[in-house]
Amino acid sequence: MDLLEQNIQYLKGVGPKRAVILEKELGITTYEDLMYYFPYKYIDRSKFYSIRDVRPGQAYIQVKGKVISIKLIGPKNKQRLSAMFTDGTGTIELVWFKGTKWMKESIKPDIEYIVFGKVSEFNRKINLVHPEMEIAEKAEKNINASLQAFYNTSEKMKSSFVNSKAIHKLQQSLFRLVTKTIPETLPAYLVKKHNLLSLHESLVNIHFPQNVDILRKAEYRLKFEELFYIQLNILKLKSFRNIRFKGNVCTKVGTYLNSFYKSNLHFELTDAQKRVIREIRKDLGSGKQMNRLLQGDVGSGKTLVALMTMLIALDNGYQSCLMAPTEILANQHYDTVIKFLDGLGIPVALLTGSTKKSQRDIIHEELLNGELKILIGTHALIEDVVRFKNLGMVVIDEQHRFGVAQRAKLWKKNINPPHVLVMTATPIPRTLAMTLYGDLDVSVIDELPPGRKPVKTAHYFDSKRLRVFGFMKKQIAQGRQIYIVYPLIKESEKMDYKFLEDGIESISRAFPPPEYAISVVHGQMKNAEKDKSMQLFIRGQTHIMIATTVIEVGVDIPNASVMVIESAERFGLSQLHQLRGRVGRGADQSFCILMTDYELTTEARKRIDIMVQTTDGFEIAEADLKLRGPGDIEGTQQSGFPFDLKIAHLGKDGQILQYARNIAEDIIDDDPALEKPDNSILVKRLRKMKKEKVYWGNIS
Ligand code: ADP
Ligand code: MG
Repeated sequence: MDLLEQNIQYLKGVGPKRAVILEKELGITTYEDLMYYFPYKYIDRSKFYSIRDVRPGQAYIQVKGKVISIKLIGPKNKQRLSAMFTDGTGTIELVWFKGTKWMKESIKPDIEYIVFGKVSEFNRKINLVHPEMEIAEKAEKNINASLQAFYNTSEKMKSSFVNSKAIHKLQQSLFRLVTKTIPETLPAYLVKKHNLLSLHESLVNIHFPQNVDILRKAEYRLKFEELFYIQLNILKLKSFRNIRFKGNVCTKVGTYLNSFYKSNLHFELTDAQKRVIREIRKDLGSGKQMNRLLQGDVGSGKTLVALMTMLIALDNGYQSCLMAPTEILANQHYDTVIKFLDGLGIPVALLTGSTKKSQRDIIHEELLNGELKILIGTHALIEDVVRFKNLGMVVIDEQHRFGVAQRAKLWKKNINPPHVLVMTATPIPRTLAMTLYGDLDVSVIDELPPGRKPVKTAHYFDSKRLRVFGFMKKQIAQGRQIYIVYPLIKESEKMDYKFLEDGIESISRAFPPPEYAISVVHGQMKNAEKDKSMQLFIRGQTHIMIATTVIEVGVDIPNASVMVIESAERFGLSQLHQLRGRVGRGADQSFCILMTDYELTTEARKRIDIMVQTTDGFEIAEADLKLRGPGDIEGTQQSGFPFDLKIAHLGKDGQILQYARNIAEDIIDDDPALEKPDNSILVKRLRKMKKEKVYWGNIS
C-alpha cells in the first residue's frame, strides 16, 4: 500500500486514541491528510531577543541565558514553579504550573539555555508560561530548520496534549518515513514553464522551511496548485457544457425591444448598462447557451437590463421568466415591469405562493400555448407543473438565495436549455466570483444612474437615541420616510423578537399618532398582513417602517431617505451594505444611521468604520473577504461555500488566483477534453478530488 494512504493511527506517536481526535477535530485520517495539514505561521528560531527589549503583547520570543534562582511557590495543591532567568540585559520570570517537581530537578544552574515561549503578563510583570527549554549547546546542533512551524489546534486537542508542538513532532515522524520522492501532482511542463518548486520540496519546506525564500516558494506552489485545480475543474465543466448544449440563437432586434426603447424608456441608459447589454447580445447571438452573472450595486439599474434582455428573447420568438427570492421582490419586479411595458401590449403574469388556484390555472395554460410572454415570480416558477411553450431566457435575481439545484431545474424547462442571466447586488470580490461563479461569465454595472447622491453614514451609540429620534422627526417633517431595521438571527430568534417588540413600543411612543404612522414588517406576520403594511409604506401613508431583514433585498422606495440599523454590530458587512442600499434611491440626500451598543469587538468596530468611510460595494466586499474569509461571507453561507481551501486565501491570493485561472484557460483552450497525454495527470487529479468531494460538491 502507498505510504500516504496509511491510516494515521499507525504513525509513530498517534495510536487509536489520538487518531480519533485527529479525525474528529481536523478531519485527518491518513498520512497524506496530515501532510496536507499546513502550518498557519512560522517563528524565526534563529533570532534571539534581549530580555531588556521584551514587551507585553509580543507573541513568541526566544532568549538565551541562565537560570539564577528557582523556587516552588504557593500551597501544595496549587503550587507553581518560578525561575528567574537572565541574559545579562535583564531578567524575566519563567513559570510552570504542571510538572513542577520534574522541571525543578532537571533545570541546572550555570548552564546556558535557549528559552522559547509566549510573552504573557501577570501582576504587571512579564513572564513566560511553560516555555520550551533546551540546553543551548545541544539546541544549536539540532536546529536545521530555522523557522519553526505552528499549527492550529482546537481546545479539545490541546487538552489531550495534541498541541501545535505535538503536530510538529508527528510531521517529523511522518517525513522520516518518506524515503522516496513524493510523486508530482502537476504536469511536468507546468512545473518547468512556471518555475514552480516540486511537490516534494514544497511539502518538506512548508513544514520544515530551511529559510524564508524557499518557504515562500513552497507556499506559492501549493497555493497555485490548489487554486489551479479549482479553476481547471470549473472551466472543464464550462467547456463540457458548451460542447454539449446549443444555445437558442437570438440575433434579431425586433418590435418588442424597439418599441420599448423608443416609446417607454424615458431616460438615457448609463454607459455601464449599454456595455452590459452589448455583452449579453453577443452571448445571445453566439449559438452558445448564455450563463452570465450580472453584478451591480444596489440601484445600478440591473432590473432594466434584465427587462431588455427578456425583450430580446421575445423578439426572437421565446418566452422569458424572472425569478426573485421573496414574494415582496417578485411583486415589486412585476410592478416595475408592468410600468415599463405600459401600453405595449406584452402579456406579463405574476406567479407566487399566494397566486389563487383559478389564476394559476390560467397562467399554466397560457404558458403552454405561448400566449404569455413574460412570467415573473418566486420559487413557484420552478415547480414541475409550470411548463412553457418555448422558454428562452431565465433571469434569476439575487442568485445567492437560490441553490444550484434550482438553477438546474429551470434549465430543464426547455429541450435546449434557456439562456441564464443571474443578477446579484451583493458585490462579490473578483476572486470570489471567479471561484464561486467561475462557470459564469461576468458583467459588471459599475456606475450609478446620474444624479444619485452617496448616502451619508453615521455611527451612534444607543445612548444617543433621542438625538436620532430628533433627526428622524426633522426628516419626516420634510416629507421623507424612514426605515428602522432590527436584527433577526436564527440562533437568538426569541430574544430578537423581544427586542423588536420593545423597539416597536418605544418608537410608537416617540412617534405617536395621529401625527405619525408606522408600518411593521417581520417574518412572524402573515403574508397578507405583511403586504398590507408594506403597501402603506410604499404609498407614503406611513412615515416609518420597522422591519427585520426581510427588507434587505431589492425593495425600491425612492422617498425613503433614512435607514436606521439597530444593533448594527450584529450585522455582517455585506448585509449592512445591502440595507444601506435601500435608501439613496431618490434625488434627496439620504442617511444611514448605525446604532450600536457601547461595547464593540475589534471586528465589529472595523465593520462600522468601513461602513462610515465608504459606499463602494466592491471595496466593502473586499474588506469583508479579508476580515472574515470566504466561508463566512453572506450568501456563500446560504448556498454553502463549496471549498475547503487548505492554504490559499481568496482575500489575499487574488494574483495567484488570476494567474492560475489564466493558465487553466490556456490548457482548456488547447485541449478542451483534456485528452493529451501530457494532461493525463490533470484528469487523474480532478477525478481524485471529485471522489473526495473536497472542492465542488455544489458547483455545476
Ligand atoms: P438594481 O436592481 O440594480 O438595484 P434598479 O433596476 O432597481 O436597480 O434601478 C434603480 C432605479 O433606477 C429604478 O427606479 C430604475 O428605474 C432607475 N434607473 C435604472 N437605470 C437608470 C438610468 N440609466 N437612468 C436613470 N434611472 C435609472
Ligand atoms: Mg434590484
